[in-house]
Amino acid sequence: MATYKQPCIHCGEMIERDSRYCPKCASNGPFGFQCPSCLKPIQREQAICSDCGRAVMTTCPLCGGQTFRGAIKCDACGKPLTVRCGYKYCGEPQYFENTKCTLCGKPIKDAKKQLIKESKGKK
Ligand SMILES: [Zn+2]
Ligand SMILES: [Zn+2]
Ligand SMILES: [Zn+2]
Ligand SMILES: [Zn+2]
Repeated sequence: MATYKQPCIHCGEMIERDSRYCPKCASNGPFGFQCPSCLKPIQREQAICSDCGRAVMTTCPLCGGQTFRGAIKCDACGKPLTVRCGYKYCGEPQYFENTKCTLCGKPIKDAKKQLIKESKGKK
């Protein structure tokens, strides 16, 4: 069966068109920006997500700069802003603001704290 590949908008890697995540850079929405909470497409020009109503911009917990929520990496410091879902059979990358996993629906505890802790540990 023929597979069609398309470049990831975040890192340029050629990946399967039906991928929900880029296997190389682990970003959600490899072919367009997605709201990390409800997975609807969002654009930088929007003020809020048309589906869940959350602002498309947020403050990075690592550097305090403004960053677009459709990208998993901070616009200001370039650090990834996702943590893994803690449910052992899932492990889906989740945006630090998510309170529930978008894949398995399990609650995510202290994602923001976890992110800050991880970034400090990696130095
Ligand atoms: Zn990528
Ligand atoms: Zn949304
Ligand atoms: Zn940042
Ligand atoms: Zn999960």
